[in-house]
Amino acid sequence: MVFGMIAVALAAAVFYVDTYTDIEGAIAVLYVVIMLLAAQTTTRIGLLVVAATCAALTLLSYAMTHGDDAELQSTIRLIVALSALFVTTVLLLKTETARLTTLSINSALKESEARYRSIFDRTRVALWERDYSQVRSYLMDLRADGVTDIRAHVAANPDLVDHCIGLIRVVAANEAARDMLGPENSAISALRRSILPAQDGFIDVLQAIMDGRKLFEDKVEIRSENGGDKLVLLSISFPDDPAAFNRVVVSMVDITQREMALKALAEAQAELTRASKAATVGAMSASLAHELNQPLGAIVVNSQTLLRWLDRDPPDLAAVRRSAERMIRDSQRASEIIHNTRNLLSPSSDKLESIRLDRLIDETMALMEHELQRSNTTVMIDRKPHLPPVSAVKIELQQVLINLITNAIQAMDEAGSPERTIRIATDRPDIERVSVTVRDTGPGIIEGVRDKLFAPFFTTKATGMGMGLSICRSTLEVRGGSLDGTNHPEGGAVFEMCLLIKPEIEHA
Ligand code: ADP
Repeated sequence: MVFGMIAVALAAAVFYVDTYTDIEGAIAVLYVVIMLLAAQTTTRIGLLVVAATCAALTLLSYAMTHGDDAELQSTIRLIVALSALFVTTVLLLKTETARLTTLSINSALKESEARYRSIFDRTRVALWERDYSQVRSYLMDLRADGVTDIRAHVAANPDLVDHCIGLIRVVAANEAARDMLGPENSAISALRRSILPAQDGFIDVLQAIMDGRKLFEDKVEIRSENGGDKLVLLSISFPDDPAAFNRVVVSMVDITQREMALKALAEAQAELTRASKAATVGAMSASLAHELNQPLGAIVVNSQTLLRWLDRDPPDLAAVRRSAERMIRDSQRASEIIHNTRNLLSPSSDKLESIRLDRLIDETMALMEHELQRSNTTVMIDRKPHLPPVSAVKIELQQVLINLITNAIQAMDEAGSPERTIRIATDRPDIERVSVTVRDTGPGIIEGVRDKLFAPFFTTKATGMGMGLSICRSTLEVRGGSLDGTNHPEGGAVFEMCLLIKPEIEHA
């Protein structure tokens, strides 16, 4: 405001002197001073208006004083004054543009700093800004001395970890970080307390710095303020520029609860798998009793025959021997059946072996023979020739197959299907996998439940548990396989299990 009034007064004075006095000189050049004053207060447009006004006053004054007899000298003075005005205006406009750009850059910088600060302060992820520059140069010196494996070096120099912790400086920590490591978490003592009891993760961080890695991310154990151990996901992004190691952002997310929940889930799943194995054996018990009956009955018959051969006079020892041999063979068969059943439940049966699908299907059919007969079900097997073996746990595949066949029998039972056929087909859908499909002539999967079939505890049966398909799918997925179910266009449900072929097995 004050600058404005001074400028107006000066403009009036310059105009007066220029117009009404005889001072010979480029008085109008003094309008430049007014431009400089105006630049302090006005905007770019204001500056242009002031410049135009000054030029107009200059021309007006020229017209009033030299209108009739324009001589060369006064015209030159006019040109000098107008040029000075023009040059000053251009320079002032340029300065103004530069000033505005600097201002906007500054405010953008401030805004981004404020945003960063508010994210840093408010996020529930524990964040630190730590100065790793001294640790980095220490590690680089070690590398220059030929050390490449920091873990081995720590084994020989146990104090190294403590020394490196001492070289770290905590620049800033947010509230979540204070909650995690305690209020004095910026102090080196807090770092020592949290890192030293389980230093493995920290040694990995040192190795990452030494190797010049850009990102470190791992599960790491730390000790909290109250002495409890926490499992955290530690993530550190190291800058490209070594000079920026004085402000490295370190983040930690407490995953202790999540890991405990995952562990409990895995344990529960293992428990369920065991229970479902027992259920599978239960489902086969009728078939097992039937299977055992055959050799046991044969043993009884053979022992009676043997006694008869012995009672002969003289005893027919050759016939006795034949009967005894048959008895041995049948008892071996019975003990094999018991052995296989026990194997189904023993944890040691979880070993990978090379399995031929044809044999697996035959053995499973033998186990289910009685159940299939009871339910009056015909099984048709369509075998793809020359399939390579798969690497799998036999009991697992058998369990899946038994589940699929039992489900098919139950579906056909429930619907009272007149035709009861299960078609089992093997195939090789692609170079890496083989498949087994089990198709039935039941009512098919109920409309709208396809998405839920494999969810735990989903069942449409009055006495069902709904765990069969869920366990079957996870059993196969753990080994890289898959299980899916759909309705066949010609009716009935079809379930397909796919299994990975290990190339080394195929070419073995
Ligand atoms: P459960 O047999 O105890 O019900 P599952 O997980 O084995 O548990 O099966 C879940 C559901 O999937 C069954 O209740 C049934 O609705 C459906 N299902 C499974 N197999 C078939 C099939 N072959 N035909 C029609 N529906 C089926």
